[in-house]
Amino acid sequence: MTEKLLNDIEYNYRTIEERISEAAIKAGKKRGDITFLAATKTVAPEAINYAISLGLRYIGENKVQELLSKYDSYNLDDASLQFIGHLQSNKVRQIVGKVDLIQSVDSVKLAQEVSRQSEKRDITTDILIEVNIGGEESKSGVEPEALYELLDEIKDFGNIKVRGLMCIPPICDSSQKILDFFTKMNNIFIDISGKKIDNISMDILSMGMSADYYEAILSGANMVRVGSSLFGARNYNI
Ligand SMILES: *Cc1c(COP(=O)(O)O)cnc(C)c1O
Repeated sequence: MTEKLLNDIEYNYRTIEERISEAAIKAGKKRGDITFLAATKTVAPEAINYAISLGLRYIGENKVQELLSKYDSYNLDDASLQFIGHLQSNKVRQIVGKVDLIQSVDSVKLAQEVSRQSEKRDITTDILIEVNIGGEESKSGVEPEALYELLDEIKDFGNIKVRGLMCIPPICDSSQKILDFFTKMNNIFIDISGKKIDNISMDILSMGMSADYYEAILSGANMVRVGSSLFGARNYNI
């Protein structure tokens, strides 16, 4: 790990912290109301742990295989490990018990498997429901129209706890369009909160990445997932 890379991470970390604080205040909140999670796909554990030494407290991986191969190297005494990528039911057992939150549950089958694997370990796993807010065919996530039915079907599963919602909006060519998606998500989030469904709590609204976390916070996000703005452009060939 070069000195330059570490310096860049430190500079980026401070910059993102400042922008999160600024956006939080603009949104009528406090810095402490917003969770800064670093998306760590393709990033070496050394770089991740350096960010943790600067104060980063949440990290998220996308791929089960990559998470497992890096698992023993993370400094998890000081940080919470989460899963943020597309998850196949047959891989659930490999991460349950290792991650504090699974952000990408989007079907009854997947929720059921997380609950079943958690029951085996005598734990409860926190989950978010991923919403396909742009209704894109290629994307994972439950369609907004099917979200209420999904919540109703999984609310009685004994070993999961729904803590909120997550989304990855479509790539937009204007900041107004992205704001519209974030606002739509926030409205759904507020609507579900108001329904007070048993065993479903709406504490976490996870949206916003490097390009748009500021706008996401202004639109109600209380968790942002930032990768390349912190660690630099990803190199998928390493
Ligand atoms: C990679 C990733 C991010 C972060 O993306 P950047 O644009 O690099 O900030 C956030 N969320 C998910 C689910 C990701 O896969």
